[in-house]
Amino acid sequence: MRNQSLFHIRHRDTSAVARTGVLHTVHGEALTPAFVGVATRASIKAVEAEALRDIGLQIVISNTYHLHLRPGADTVAALGGLQNFGGWSGPTMTDSGGFQVFSLGASKEHGVGKVASIFPGTAASNEREVSSRRKAGGPSLVRLTEQGAQFRSVIDGSEHMFTPESVISIQRKLGADIILPLDECTSPLHDHSYTERAMHRTHRWARRGLAAFRVLEPDLSFPNPSQHLFGIVQGGAYRELREESARVIGDMGFDGFAIGGSLGRSKDDMLQVLDWTVPGLAEDLPRHLLGIGEIEDLFAAVRRGIDTFDCAAPTRLARNGTVFLKGEPRHRINLRNARYQTDERPIDETCDCFTCRHHSRAYLRHLCRAGEFSFYRLATIHNLRFLVRLMAEIRTAIEDDRFDALAAEWSALR
Ligand SMILES: [Zn+2]
Repeated sequence: MRNQSLFHIRHRDTSAVARTGVLHTVHGEALTPAFVGVATRASIKAVEAEALRDIGLQIVISNTYHLHLRPGADTVAALGGLQNFGGWSGPTMTDSGGFQVFSLGASKEHGVGKVASIFPGTAASNEREVSSRRKAGGPSLVRLTEQGAQFRSVIDGSEHMFTPESVISIQRKLGADIILPLDECTSPLHDHSYTERAMHRTHRWARRGLAAFRVLEPDLSFPNPSQHLFGIVQGGAYRELREESARVIGDMGFDGFAIGGSLGRSKDDMLQVLDWTVPGLAEDLPRHLLGIGEIEDLFAAVRRGIDTFDCAAPTRLARNGTVFLKGEPRHRINLRNARYQTDERPIDETCDCFTCRHHSRAYLRHLCRAGEFSFYRLATIHNLRFLVRLMAEIRTAIEDDRFDALAAEWSALR
């Protein structure tokens, strides 16, 4: 059953498919287009919930895989759900954990790092977090059947099984406002035939997830009885698969949509995937793009009608010393650079964040190089505030029908 009250479109830009809207949840509203902060383990790394409110962040996404393994959904439910447990009282999403189950299997086999790049082999920092605690070596961690995905915990090696039904049940206990069904994620390395089989399984799992969601809906013992389930569109970078997936998932009765899986091997591929997918989805329902957060990609996706994004990169980059600054190459600078050694200016003289109001580039560079924990917090605060302000600027431009002009301005500065 669709809950029509979740999303309202406020304005459509006359020059693009871009639109502004509002997500209405029982935990408050989020104005869209919006950047969704990545709080994998019910925490944005290094920044507590209270500071997120000062930053102006509207919505966060946590991860079912990680919270299932630790502390466990029953523990979170007993403590009143994610909002009560973590102190973030605003709107939340949870990712289904499918991406982590499959990425972890692949990453363990291929020995890649703790984050999965959306475009493997490129310098693009679009990524989804997998895990920061993996044991080296060993066989694949995931075994896939029609019933679900069996996997070993990255924490203690214990056996777990995710089914479309259990993933809904876990997310009912976690209590996020927007939840996602179990999907099988393919990589750009999978061929058409495998991607098609995986997509059809994802569609069958989506139906089972939706049925489980409806069965569990009246149960008021869960921390949040007003949850919304989004469908996930798969199909890799293959046109007819994306169109089929958008049509099939689009007709199932979900409250909104997430676009997941392989977005191809490059950003051009990603834009094509969006061009093939978005027109198949109901115009009046919200659309989320999983794992995208580079500034040029935010503009490109908003132009194609995407409402929300999440990406682990902006906060991970911050912890490594890379902070956003409009007009610099890729709109970012690295504070480790020697040129900031005696630079008394803030990161961004136009920024109103706590970090820019209180600290110089020189001091931040020192903290970064010294490995001080405070640096993680201060740099993350700036990068999140930068994205919050950018998304507000984008929303204003759409409402004034000058989205393309704003996109051109940011593009020209790069
Ligand atoms: Zn700042």
